[in-house]
Amino acid sequence: MGKLAIEGGCPVRNHPLPPDYPGATMMGEEEVEAVNKVIKAQSPFRFYGENVQHTVDQLEEMMAKDLEVPYVLGVSSCTAAIVIALKALGVGYGDKVIVPSVTFIATAGAVISANAVPVFVDVDASLNLDPNDLERVMDDEVKAIIAVPLSGNPNDMDSIMAFAKKHNIYVIEDVAQSCGIKYKGRHQGTIGDIGVFSFQMNKILTAGEGGAIATKDKNLFERIVRYHDQGSFRAGIKNKFDIESSDIQSSFAGQNYRMSEITGAILVEQWKKLDRIINATKKSRKYIMDAVAEKLPNIKFQKCIDDEGHVGIAFGIQFEKPNDAKLFHDALNSENVGCRFIYRRKPVYRFDQIFHQRTTEKDNFPFNYPFKKPVLYTENMCPNAEYYLQRTIQVPISPMFTDQDVHDVITGIVKVYDTLFSKTGEKTS
Ligand SMILES: *Cc1c(COP(=O)(O)O)cnc(C)c1O
Repeated sequence: MGKLAIEGGCPVRNHPLPPDYPGATMMGEEEVEAVNKVIKAQSPFRFYGENVQHTVDQLEEMMAKDLEVPYVLGVSSCTAAIVIALKALGVGYGDKVIVPSVTFIATAGAVISANAVPVFVDVDASLNLDPNDLERVMDDEVKAIIAVPLSGNPNDMDSIMAFAKKHNIYVIEDVAQSCGIKYKGRHQGTIGDIGVFSFQMNKILTAGEGGAIATKDKNLFERIVRYHDQGSFRAGIKNKFDIESSDIQSSFAGQNYRMSEITGAILVEQWKKLDRIINATKKSRKYIMDAVAEKLPNIKFQKCIDDEGHVGIAFGIQFEKPNDAKLFHDALNSENVGCRFIYRRKPVYRFDQIFHQRTTEKDNFPFNYPFKKPVLYTENMCPNAEYYLQRTIQVPISPMFTDQDVHDVITGIVKVYDTLFSKTGEKTS
C-alpha cells in the first residue's frame, strides 16, 4: 500500500477531489442564458415589471410536480423558510420546538427568530434525531418538531409522524441539505405539515442563496404566502393556486422573504439537473461503500435506514475512539481525499449563541417566557450527539467525480484504514 502521505509517503492523489458544491459545480451556459433573459427583460421582480419572465413561478411549478405536493413557494433562504413555517403554523412566543441536537445552527436560530424556544432531542448512530428520545423532551409547551435529514440521510418519518400525531404537534421537515431525498419512496419535505428547502451555496442545488417551502395544506399555504410578502396575498398567487380571496381579517404583519426572478432563473436550470446530480452521487456512494466494505470488513458506516432514499452526497465512517477518528481524518486528507468532522464536533446547543441563549432582545426574550418547565441547555445533555460527532468522519461525494476519483477515494480509505488500524487492531493512543 505504501507509506501514508502524512508520514512522508506518496499521496493517493496529487490534487484535491472536485469541490463539494454539487449544484455550483454543475453550473453552465444554461444558467447564464436564463439569467440573461431576466436581465434583458429588465424584470428581476416576480410580481411586476415590463416583461416578467415568471421564473419563480416556473420553479414552484417544477418543484410541486416533481415533489408531488400541491403548494410550493420560492423564498429568500431556508432560514427564512423555517421562520415562515413557524409563523404559518402559529408557533411563537411561549412555545417550544423540538430540534435535533445535530444540525446546522440555522434550524435552532430560526426557531428563536420566530420567538419560540428550541429544545434538543438526541441522535442515534445515523446522526439524525432519535425517535426514542422524543418523549424525554416532550411536554405540553412543545408545539412542533423539526426533522432534519442530515447530509442526504433520510429520517425515520414513520416514527416521527406517529409521535407527532400522538401528541398533536406539527412536523416541519428541514431538507436544506437533502434536496431529492426520499423516505420509503415518498419525498421528504412533503410528509410532515411543511417542508423547507435551501439553495445556498453549500447545498445540492444553488443560486448562491435561496429557499423554498412546500405544503399540502391550502390554509397553511395562504399564511406562508402572506408572511413572506408583508402580509399581502397578491392576485397573481391567488389565481395561480386557485385560493379564495381572503378577507382582511386573515391578514397579519409579515416580512419580505421573496425570491427574485434572477434567483428563480438560476434555480429552474438547477432543478432540471437534480436527477442527474443525485443519480451520480448515489451511484458513487454505493460503489465506494460496497468496495470499501469488501476490503475492510470491520469498517463501520454511519447508520442509514433507507439507502434507496439517501441522496448520496456523503457517507460517514464511525470509529470507537475519538482519537482514531482524528488520526483517520488527518491521514486521509493528506492523501488528498477530502473528509471532515461535521459541525466542529459540537452539537448545535453547544454553539455559544444558543448555549447562552443570547438574543438581540430585551429581558432575554423569548427565553424569558414563564415556561412551566424551564428550558436550560447543559453540556452533554444529548450524550449520543456528543459521542457520535467525536467519532464520525464524513466523506463528501461530488456529482463531478470521475471513475478515477471514485477509485482514489476507495484506495485512500483502504490505505489509511489498513495502515492505521489493521495491523495492530484499533489504535489506542
Ligand atoms: C443550510 C441549512 C439551513 C439554512 O439554509 P439557508 O438557505 O442558508 O438559510 C437550514 N437548515 C439546515 C439543516 C441547513 O443545512
